[in-house]
Amino acid sequence: MKTIIVGGGPAGMTAAIAASQGGNSQVHIYEKNEKLGRKLFITGKGRCNITNAADMKTVMDSVVTNPKFMYSAFRGFDNNAIVRLIEGAGCPTKVERGSRVFPVSDHSSDVIKALEHELRVRRVRIHLNTEIKGLLIRDGECRGVKLSDGSTEAADRVIIATGAMSYQSTGSTGDGYRWAAYAGHKVIETVPALVPLEAAVGSIPSGLSLKNVKADIYDGDKLLYTDFGELLFTHFGLSGPIILSASSYVSRRIRSGAFLKAVIDLKPAIDEAVLDARVLRDFEKNRNKAIKNSLGELLLSGLIAEVLRQAGISPEKKVNEITKQERQSFVKAVKNLTFDITGTRGWNEAIITQGGVSTKEINPKTMESRLVRGLFFAGEVIDVDAVTGGFNLQIAWSTGWAAGSEE
Ligand SMILES: Cc1cc2nc3c(=O)[nH]c(=O)nc-3n(C[C@H](O)[C@H](O)[C@H](O)COP(=O)(O)OP(=O)(O)OC[C@H]3O[C@@H](n4cnc5c(N)ncnc54)[C@H](O)[C@@H]3O)c2cc1C
Repeated sequence: MKTIIVGGGPAGMTAAIAASQGGNSQVHIYEKNEKLGRKLFITGKGRCNITNAADMKTVMDSVVTNPKFMYSAFRGFDNNAIVRLIEGAGCPTKVERGSRVFPVSDHSSDVIKALEHELRVRRVRIHLNTEIKGLLIRDGECRGVKLSDGSTEAADRVIIATGAMSYQSTGSTGDGYRWAAYAGHKVIETVPALVPLEAAVGSIPSGLSLKNVKADIYDGDKLLYTDFGELLFTHFGLSGPIILSASSYVSRRIRSGAFLKAVIDLKPAIDEAVLDARVLRDFEKNRNKAIKNSLGELLLSGLIAEVLRQAGISPEKKVNEITKQERQSFVKAVKNLTFDITGTRGWNEAIITQGGVSTKEINPKTMESRLVRGLFFAGEVIDVDAVTGGFNLQIAWSTGWAAGSEE
């Protein structure tokens, strides 16, 4: 049995390891870059958040798009399985906050070295600097691939593990989508996800970071997403963990032209009445100051001008001239600081791609096409994605393993 795997990322590498299990197989990886795992190298800020050690229910719940499709693949090759594989190949791991798994060395290169070691031991043939240009499909069967020099290479099975659209300099340029469409597959429109959001943030300085805030994303009156945690203001708008996670639930809507709002509660631990009493006390202490100079204990200085603007209060106004109504508007603004979202950032800032080859036409146990025999898909090219925490790599490992394993 000869298996060709297109793409030497995490999905392609696990597919190759699984495919070489029997011992009799010939397994080839074709990778257009000069080395394997270029995107894997930059994951987790160079530390590689390999997977998440949470229980299977949490892992399933962390999948945003088509979680049910992942059920068999996760069961077949779960978070423990990838940790065993990588540790067995000489790269010990550790578990950090939020059950995130990293290599003990904090170097993604050690994860890549471990996988390369496994590939070598299993005699997988690796063809670097070799770009695949298309598929050989005849009579409803995939029989091999076309190379960029015009030659062809026959195979019994072809696994497309070409990744998606984000961070294109790593090699993910959407080739797999084109081939899937050529093979008759439906490809769900791709949008950048786990991506910062563009918004007009007024005078708030770029780099201002907030911990323990709540962010709600609304489409009109409809609440689309709510989260609690860390948020970052940038020169273009909003970023940070809660915004990146939110983007996975709202990116497609923004891209389709909806006008969404981000509403940030700067003091989520206290309700409006308690906050009002606190503000009143601060006002008592600073009666003769301009309001902009009286809020230092309540708000970071970079936020004061924007909160006052949204509350409709002149920053120069003396505290003893502030009416009860203005104070209440101020309290409302602190609990509902609102920004119009004008877009998402682009592919070069998107950690993942949403959309891809429709799961409806892929067998979830084997990752084989339901339309073309001998054609398989693995990794981000499939229309599956998850929130941050190691779950996207787990999708790549698990679908790669399923695609590589012979039935
Ligand atoms: C900055 C960043 C940080 C991230 N951090 C994390 C993290 O810590 N944890 C996590 O779980 N996820 C993380 N992710 C997401 C994760 O990296 C991806 O989901 C994962 O790499 C997808 O694996 P893949 O094998 O499907 O695709 P890829 O890793 O994109 O690999 C696809 C490979 O196919 C090759 N290829 C494409 N077309 C061809 C062709 N025509 N011929 C030959 N080869 C081809 C490409 O060169 C590439 O090497 C991060 C992503 C980014 C961008």
